[in-house]
Amino acid sequence: MIRLRFDRDGVYDIAATEGRLSRESLVVGREKKFVEGATHASPFPVPRPGSPLPPHLFPLPLPVYRSPSSFRERVMTRYAVLVLLAALTQSAAAQQTVATLPVADTSIFAPLVLPTANVYRTGSGRPGVNYWQNRADYDIAATLDTATKSVSATMTMRYTNNSPDTLTYLWLQTEQNAFKANSLNSLIFPQDSRFGARGFEGGYVFDRVEQVAPGARANAPSRKLKVTVRDHETVTKVILAEPLAPGKSTSLEIAYHFAVPEHGADRMGHDGPLFEIAQWYPRIAVYDDVRGWNTEPYLGQGEFYLDFGNYNLAITVPAGYIVAATGALTNGAQVLTPTQVARLAKAAKSDTVIRIVTAEELASGAARPRTSGTMTWKFASKNVRDAVWAASPEYQWDASSWKGIMAYAYYRPKAAANWSDAADQSRMSIKEYSERWFQYPWPHISAIEGPISGMEYPMIAMEAQGEDVYDLYNVVTHEIGHMWFPMIVASNERVRMWQDEGFNTFINTFSEALRYPEKGDQMARAKGERDIIEQVMKAGADKPIDIGPDRINPQLLGISAYLKPSVGLQQLRQEILGPETFDEAFREYIRRWAYKHPTAADFYRTMEDAAGRRLDWFWRGWFVENARYDQSIDAVQTRMNGDTTQVTAIYGNKARGVLPIRARFTFSDGSTQEFNYPAEVWSTNSVRYLRRYSFVGKTPTKVEIDPDGRLVDFDRSNNTWSAVGK
Ligand SMILES: [Zn+2]
Repeated sequence: MIRLRFDRDGVYDIAATEGRLSRESLVVGREKKFVEGATHASPFPVPRPGSPLPPHLFPLPLPVYRSPSSFRERVMTRYAVLVLLAALTQSAAAQQTVATLPVADTSIFAPLVLPTANVYRTGSGRPGVNYWQNRADYDIAATLDTATKSVSATMTMRYTNNSPDTLTYLWLQTEQNAFKANSLNSLIFPQDSRFGARGFEGGYVFDRVEQVAPGARANAPSRKLKVTVRDHETVTKVILAEPLAPGKSTSLEIAYHFAVPEHGADRMGHDGPLFEIAQWYPRIAVYDDVRGWNTEPYLGQGEFYLDFGNYNLAITVPAGYIVAATGALTNGAQVLTPTQVARLAKAAKSDTVIRIVTAEELASGAARPRTSGTMTWKFASKNVRDAVWAASPEYQWDASSWKGIMAYAYYRPKAAANWSDAADQSRMSIKEYSERWFQYPWPHISAIEGPISGMEYPMIAMEAQGEDVYDLYNVVTHEIGHMWFPMIVASNERVRMWQDEGFNTFINTFSEALRYPEKGDQMARAKGERDIIEQVMKAGADKPIDIGPDRINPQLLGISAYLKPSVGLQQLRQEILGPETFDEAFREYIRRWAYKHPTAADFYRTMEDAAGRRLDWFWRGWFVENARYDQSIDAVQTRMNGDTTQVTAIYGNKARGVLPIRARFTFSDGSTQEFNYPAEVWSTNSVRYLRRYSFVGKTPTKVEIDPDGRLVDFDRSNNTWSAVGK
């Protein structure tokens, strides 16, 4: 789904980009645009990034001790520090609301309680020795009726039960039913909002649902059995005629049709003769070891949770249409011209863009072998969790390739200004994510232009025209990043949005920096996101990340599910584990859980297992609770001992969350020195950390905490100590 974007300078600025936010980023923006037809103010008051820090107010005057030489004087110095500490502790205690008696290990460092490991999911975060996952293979033959704007289809789904349980019923995801009057979706979201149905009366009509059972004897014909169908709106129960035993398969045969909504909750729909078709067949819900059947309704914000399988699609459209879809086109010779077939072969060996269908050919009629009657396009894909398609009589088609993987772009001539770059954008995106994280496994990646602004499906990225190539790339590379999360690492999007949107937002910073370094390198882009999170914390608008997407305030969806988890991964990578260790662990997570269904605990455990660090404090602070982060420099004492300056520095932690300390000392001679401490220094005392230093021939004039803004810290007014005037 769509994401927050950087502005043209590569720096994110909420206050300066309200229009942008309202258009595409925070969900409220999109809603308000549709409701009011206008942009609006940002949803919560946030200061502009880069505004000057409030003047530093140092809380306590500190005596300067000079050259204590005797033991007694050294004891006195230590005593003075203790008195100072006691005073600070008392004032801190007075400021905090503290439980009267400690009743448990409430430390941020306490072991995080995770589900008990078992044979399906191990304590190391790996899939267990008996990990299982069910499988669904689909053959779908669909016809698009452009006159009635409807799709009719017959489908056979072969479902394999790898669970240890006998299943007497199956649950199907029937998302088109969100577009029925009085659906739960329509009761929750205003008609004109992003996820509203806009008064459209749609939904699935099942013409036939049957269970296909194998014949009683080998080679006997299959038997069609009557099933009972219970309509629960966007989830539908099918009570099987014959139960499905462990290790066995059964098939459902379903004939159905539905009217295509113009606005399909921003995930499918049509724009005149152009159709983008998704959530278009009854999909099996996931039955897993964690929760059994996952039957959360489809409301809008929460996306999908799907099992893997092979798909064979046969899409019948008017002959003048060009079809883009998940899977490899298997009958190109029938639906393309010989010229187009030859151009595609050339593109398969080209790292620059070849025009497969040009605007001139669309205008002259040379784009199609014929334009009367219908044509059936066939696509096959292996090991994907969904398959979708788009069709238009106006699609230009570009292609290039990387390592034999085709990178396509489909767009209308009116979008050509930005979109003639899109095939190359797609190519660069799969190359970047493949080389950094995990090899892209499928035969093509396609960017498709149309009314849906920012939506991902296997091998498919849907996006609108875009303001310019930068704007287009940010969305295209985001939707393509979803090929890794959740199309390969198939977490449950309807339960944990951050596990795909947040992880994807994080990997996007590398891809964006690769294509447009002049708009900011990866660190600058990460800082842009971090600054926003600080502002949100400052405004008190932050929420825990680990909230189900359908319960997130739509105004905060972009913050909670995209930016905050991305910033968390960035902190973990750059400040806590280091890039090498983080990348190794993150790759291990992707490798372990590719084509599987990881939970949050599987992620936490794998990262710790592969990085060799306990991170309870980080997961708890950043993902589970809603910890704030505020380090301070509470006191600095200096005393001279000959030509040596003895310094005692007391670092403070004013909020629940802990992070490493990055301190910079500036000296009287103008030189500087950095002192870095890991977050674990807060483990025995999470509010105060004392260090002593000796400097020969120079005296510190300034001590700063996190002077480069690398760590999240929502109050930077207490980050500097200065000797001036002391
Ligand atoms: Zn997304």
